[in-house]
Amino acid sequence: MNTLKLTTEAKDIETAAQIIARGGLVAFPTETVYGLGANALDEQAVAAVYEAKGRPSDNPMIVHIARASDIGQLTPMLSPDIVAIIENFWPGPLTIVVKKKPSVPDRTTGGLDTVAVRMPDAKPALDLINRAGVPIAAPSANLSGSPSPTRAKDVIADLDGRIDAIIQGEDCRVGIESTVLDLTSKEPTILRPGIITAESIEAALGKPVKYDPSLKEAAQHVQLDPAAGVAEADFQPKSPGMKYRHYAPKADMLVVEGQRDRVKEEIERLRVLNERLGNQVGVILFEEKAFIEAAHDFFSRLRDLDREGVDLILAGALSDTDGVGFAVMNRMLKSAGYNIVRV
Ligand code: AMP
Ligand code: MG
Repeated sequence: MNTLKLTTEAKDIETAAQIIARGGLVAFPTETVYGLGANALDEQAVAAVYEAKGRPSDNPMIVHIARASDIGQLTPMLSPDIVAIIENFWPGPLTIVVKKKPSVPDRTTGGLDTVAVRMPDAKPALDLINRAGVPIAAPSANLSGSPSPTRAKDVIADLDGRIDAIIQGEDCRVGIESTVLDLTSKEPTILRPGIITAESIEAALGKPVKYDPSLKEAAQHVQLDPAAGVAEADFQPKSPGMKYRHYAPKADMLVVEGQRDRVKEEIERLRVLNERLGNQVGVILFEEKAFIEAAHDFFSRLRDLDREGVDLILAGALSDTDGVGFAVMNRMLKSAGYNIVRV
């Protein structure tokens, strides 16, 4: 298949929208990461997304809409919490999980009776959804398991020839995927951390917000048996996507965690040691507390280091248990397959 390379200009968005409307696949930029879009209400188109990504079919997709009121096409009832989230955070990098209407195909939701919905704020994404005239199911536009794509060239590296078109826009502003908030359980629960934090959601809802226990467990399990890695099946996450090995670079990867100076020293020690053995080593060490920047750069750093062909990536853990740093750590630990040393 020849993948059409499009711009964000109106005539190209129109072409992309027509492709979506007739059941095709289009990668497009959002503010979080690039998405691989298909008509969310067309079962066959959605099946083709799983196929192109090599994504397990029980891992549901986020449905993207261009007007908040379009959520009514997908869910039967708007609770006060849903309304508060929409008013405070949409458009933006926050996805909510709500009860689904029967018209949303099981394929789109991985057989669940809930659906994940988001209204992005990136203009090309909104233009595309508006012109296509249908909600667009869009997981990240990468091959399943590899780092999420934050630049058009990352999408091309993974999906060129496997999809109908790509809209080549700007690099993504946020750099990590949306926060996923489940509003179907008793307490609002974060299933995937992102740059919209628990604290800001609590402020908007006026009530406590939980983390899915698997998120905190994942960070703790790693202490038990770092050498063996962690069996992902040990976790029972509510969000199916959280159980798969994710975001993995081609290189081996090790996360070094601890007090900042010691982390720097240990990374340097391991770098020298490994280079002496003939390994090419890449280092990811963000400025202390620069969490937003870390989110923006993390996936692109992984992909650049893979492109350079490094054998080993040494990454310094961010110390943050709740906010944006925690969201980046969620990705970093998965990328490393929970391969971590504490110093
Ligand atoms: P991605 O499409 O790669 O950004 O991943 C979407 C994330 O949202 C995955 O972790 C999914 O498991 C999660 N998700 C999508 N729909 C649902 C749902 N109905 N219930 C729980 N999690 C969901
Ligand atoms: Mg993904």
